[in-house]
Amino acid sequence: MNLKNQNNRRKSRQIKIGDVLVGGDADISVQSMTNTKTTDVKGTLAQIKQLEDAGADIVRVSVPDKDSADAFAKIKKGSNLPLVADIHFDHMMALEAIKGKADCIRINPGNIGKEEKVKQVVSAAKDNGIPIRVGVNAGSLERKLQIKYGEPNADALVESALGHINILQQLNFNDFKLSIKASDVFLTIESYRKIAKLIDQPLHLGITEAGGFRSGTVKSAVGLGALLLDGIGDTLRVSLASDPVDEIKVGWDILKSLKIRSRGINFIACPTCSRMNFDVIGTMNKLESRLEDIKEDLDVAVIGCYVNGPGESKHTSIGVTGGSPKNLIYIDGKPDHKVEGYNLAEHLEKLIRDKVDKIKLDKDSVIVKSN
Ligand code: SF4
Repeated sequence: MNLKNQNNRRKSRQIKIGDVLVGGDADISVQSMTNTKTTDVKGTLAQIKQLEDAGADIVRVSVPDKDSADAFAKIKKGSNLPLVADIHFDHMMALEAIKGKADCIRINPGNIGKEEKVKQVVSAAKDNGIPIRVGVNAGSLERKLQIKYGEPNADALVESALGHINILQQLNFNDFKLSIKASDVFLTIESYRKIAKLIDQPLHLGITEAGGFRSGTVKSAVGLGALLLDGIGDTLRVSLASDPVDEIKVGWDILKSLKIRSRGINFIACPTCSRMNFDVIGTMNKLESRLEDIKEDLDVAVIGCYVNGPGESKHTSIGVTGGSPKNLIYIDGKPDHKVEGYNLAEHLEKLIRDKVDKIKLDKDSVIVKSN
């Protein structure tokens, strides 16, 4: 897949979460959050591994109490991915998480309470070189702003964000990123657009509480897509009432659709109609589920007939165009051979895996030559 340059990307300062750069010209990272009990160290680590396999760059873990903070330190030791400790209100949990080697803490300074407590958290973050994520959410807007604005509109969310940011900046702390989320797509977009002009820290995108798998995916794609096309956004989390692994897959699909990042197969498949000459939907379902492990960037076309097949297959590594009595297979955009519909998914899977092996070999030989 040819990636598009994000020429209009908003300029932001760069922060570092573990070994993942966020902001500046760094790749837009994809994150999710574990939903296991944090005290279940084994279960949480297993979920982090699943997220890693799906392509997560960063994972957030809740730290609601001391037992969870103790568990967090153990989880951190076993995780290959940078971990953000999610803290609400209790500054002691933030200090514990920093002690437990968190790579970032999510905490809103305005919600911690006394100034002294904020100072302790900020100075511990500074001493350990850890950034903070400020997370403003329409669902938990401060009461005084709800009264002032009468509703959680974009100005209210921006004022809330600036309030938290102001506390950090008065303590000379600029190493933070910000999210300003709502479950409403319009409100989220407006809020991000406004805050993007006011600060230069990286922005963490998301439509919060977006919904179940289908509705949440659509809302997130529309909202995050609009912002990313504006050049806004340095890292993202798709929030779904679904398996966290789905959040990573959808996050990647959004970035892939916009040609911002690539990972795994980019399928081009027709919507099917009476002209199709093989079971396009069944073939796609099989290929999508069997080829989830592939990380290499590859375009594959699965098209039911000659109306659109040759045109789509021309730009792919592997393509199939439905025909009668046999279907035509394309390799590297050129017609190569014909096969029957029987076992088509298996045949395509083999061709794709062979192609992936070749890509890996070519990459390895480039590395050997350059050494
Ligand atoms: Fe129908 Fe052919 Fe179009 Fe697929 S490519 S939807 S089979 S006309």
